[in-house]
Amino acid sequence: MYGYDGTVTDANASGLPGQPQSDPGPGPAADDAAGERPSARDAGTAATGAGNFAAGSGNDGGTGAQRGTLPLLGAADIRRLAEELDVRPTKTLGQNFVIDGNTIRRIVAAAHVEPDETVLEVGPGLGSLTLGLLDAAAHVVAVEIDPKLAAKLPDTARNYRPDADGRLDVVLADAMRVTELPREPSALVANLPYNVAVPVVLHLLEHFPSLRHGLVMVQDEVADRLAAGPGSKIYGVPSVKAAWYSQMRKAGVIGMNVFWPAPKIASGLVGFTRREPPVTRATRQEVFAVVDAAFAQRRKTLRAALAGWAGSAAAAEEALRAANVDPRARGEVLDVEAFARIAEYKRPPVA
Ligand code: SAM
Repeated sequence: MYGYDGTVTDANASGLPGQPQSDPGPGPAADDAAGERPSARDAGTAATGAGNFAAGSGNDGGTGAQRGTLPLLGAADIRRLAEELDVRPTKTLGQNFVIDGNTIRRIVAAAHVEPDETVLEVGPGLGSLTLGLLDAAAHVVAVEIDPKLAAKLPDTARNYRPDADGRLDVVLADAMRVTELPREPSALVANLPYNVAVPVVLHLLEHFPSLRHGLVMVQDEVADRLAAGPGSKIYGVPSVKAAWYSQMRKAGVIGMNVFWPAPKIASGLVGFTRREPPVTRATRQEVFAVVDAAFAQRRKTLRAALAGWAGSAAAAEEALRAANVDPRARGEVLDVEAFARIAEYKRPPVA
């Protein structure tokens, strides 16, 4: 952990990947045709074209000062920090850094963080969102897998938020494996690495019951999946597993021009509030096994799709009927409570 005292804890039990591979450099933002872009336009930083990244106007285009808020990182700050660190963003680590202060304000506002809360941020990167969170919360615990970025963050926080001394912990770790943090977080707010967003969210909800609510930025399509309900075409494994822990809701769309490098697809915000898991005699793992089996062959009836899980189609039908579920139905119409009931009726394998 890097506190402001500069001490280091390597919490990454799994080891770290190799150095970042070379990847796209600053890219033009003209391909941002989808999603909402008002924040970038307003800020006058991210969407100004001319290679976008190089066209940044420093600390948030001055909007922070105009609104009486503290400065956030703009494109020029991100460029300078990346150059200082010799960082080339990698796709492997989902490194798309936010270069627009208004987007950060929007995320922080939508997260509804209370001033006494400890926020867990996964993947703080160069610190764009971290600064916004330090303004809203009592404490930020930031888990970053990239050693260069983790090492720089306390310095950035010290430079931009001298008053936040002692309110930031930086943990060098893989968020998919972390099971201990220096403080109990009550909220998760993150611009997540897109390739691992769902496993990260599920892992954190499982291992940190103190997380009561949160807001994450993920690929827009993934945001829709996480928030989908039964009966929808995009309802699937992430939707049901997320519903085990929480109520998820779509909280907005973010265009591509607010990032460096600009991704090729829009991003979405998903908010969540923790709920009690369904009351069931089955364990979470047993329920998730039914969910995995049902959606592995989502076009089949549950009787057929769960045959492997139950041992035979007849055994699957027996469990489904006992759970009061139509064996001819498909998994996409069941809510998490129905999956929990089915899991209760799995017969032990015959010895
Ligand atoms: N929060 C920053 C922002 O909004 O500009 C950066 C967000 S960027 C989309 C994702 C960040 O997650 C990167 O800093 C990346 O190094 C980090 N990251 C990727 N995989 C990770 C993992 N498994 N655990 C922790 N951090 C990870």
